[in-house]
Amino acid sequence: MGEQYSNSRREEGVVVEEVLFHSAKLSQPEKVLPLLPIERKKTRQMLYDDNPTLVGIPKEIDENRQGEALFWEDARSGSTAGGKRFYIESYGCQMNFSDSEIVASVLAEEGFSPTRFMEESDLILINTCSIREKAEETVRKRLRMFDLEKRRRPGVLVGVLGCMAERLKKKFLEEEKLVDIVVGPDAYRDLPKLIAGAEDGEKGINVFLSREETYADISPLRLDSNGVSAFISIMRGCDNMCSFCVVPYTRGRERSRDAFSIVAEAAQLFEQGYREVTLLGQNVDSYKWQNPENGHVVSFAELLEMTALVHPGLRVRFSTSHPKDMTDEVLHIMARHENICNYIHLPVQSGNSRILDLMNRTYDREWYLGRIEAIERILPDCAISSDIITGFCTETEEEHRDTLSMMERANYSMSYMFAYSERPGTPAAKKYEDDVPEEVKKRRLNEVIRLQNQISLRHNLADVGKTFRVLIEGDSKRSDQEFKGRNSQNKMIVFPKQPGLKPGDYVNVLVKSATGATLLGEMC
Ligand code: SF4
Repeated sequence: MGEQYSNSRREEGVVVEEVLFHSAKLSQPEKVLPLLPIERKKTRQMLYDDNPTLVGIPKEIDENRQGEALFWEDARSGSTAGGKRFYIESYGCQMNFSDSEIVASVLAEEGFSPTRFMEESDLILINTCSIREKAEETVRKRLRMFDLEKRRRPGVLVGVLGCMAERLKKKFLEEEKLVDIVVGPDAYRDLPKLIAGAEDGEKGINVFLSREETYADISPLRLDSNGVSAFISIMRGCDNMCSFCVVPYTRGRERSRDAFSIVAEAAQLFEQGYREVTLLGQNVDSYKWQNPENGHVVSFAELLEMTALVHPGLRVRFSTSHPKDMTDEVLHIMARHENICNYIHLPVQSGNSRILDLMNRTYDREWYLGRIEAIERILPDCAISSDIITGFCTETEEEHRDTLSMMERANYSMSYMFAYSERPGTPAAKKYEDDVPEEVKKRRLNEVIRLQNQISLRHNLADVGKTFRVLIEGDSKRSDQEFKGRNSQNKMIVFPKQPGLKPGDYVNVLVKSATGATLLGEMC
């Protein structure tokens, strides 16, 4: 599940995106140098709206990271002189953003360094998403722009990475001839070979989906990091077959990464100054890794506890949870460790059992409500968020209202919400007619969004007067006189700065007021 769509960043697989991270070669300190403050600031500026080459391209899925160019600019002065540079844009879920940092690590081994400027790069890469049609359209527009750059500077190579690579390899390489390299999510180790071939004029392609690849030994370059929070990928692929989702086809079968490499990565991040890690997977609850030395199978609950024990000052989050797999054991582990955050992204997709069955979610409304009750019982302070699809095949008004009532009952702090968008090759596309008219899907989506806004505001207003432990992430968007940070429930809190504090510090903040998106407070 994953994932979160980015309109999130974030889903469940498909219509939602936003989630994942990575790995463990601990012996390359020069590549994981934390960014200097000024570099961090520049990195943050590279959000979609600031990318000068994206002018005119609509940001169709709200998330403000779509199209972000990951880079670290001259973090080590002179280190890139004379070397080759790559420019990489990322779309879709957090897994894709995380993968871009693995790609950066692979390329750094070959002497490439990242740049935020396409015009000065030798290699232009786009890490793509197939979950929604609009995401694919955006990538196509970008490829046309990259093609212009190729014509302007012959010799520049263009590569497509990620989910679209698998789906549209032929089209990109043979029909549209827009790119030199096409690399699927399990083939990033092959990039150097494919680049070398492309430099000799060969078209390079590897979209092989592996049953083993977890990139466990590759330490991702934290190019877009705030130096406080990082993502650690704990698994890849997905074995669920939600009927609307392309992930099982574009990212392959589920594989869990060596638990010890995950814990080692978390420990390394803590030593480097990071104070929060998010364990990422399409369906983290089905994480399962067998220790080859003693046969012991590490479950997600166990992995969560192992990570929490790295240090009490390291916050641990995770995403995405699948309602069918989320166990009480995980909830009890969360309750036991204060540094495991009280926040669960538990995508419901629909509040109606018939639609859930058509979606092949393998749970029904009652089961989902039972999971909500378990969270409320074991973790009374836990915030829950969701992914919701409106207008799935044959959805009636009454079934749509079941989704609205589910939102009320679950009291989601936030949701990633989408109108159903049929993806070619999925079971839903093969078996069902996409028969809910677009205007109905959109109207239902608007109703869902309106309701979520009300619930989010109510949720936040209930926090006024409470004090939270907040991890400072950096300056607020509005002012460098204010810090922003998150509480355990993953809510953003903005508060006036006080001398002597810096990102990565924990402070107690009393909430004085709230909007639907943010809590406003003062340190106490
Ligand atoms: S198939 Fe997997 S990734 Fe896709 S929505 Fe279902 S659980 Fe998520």
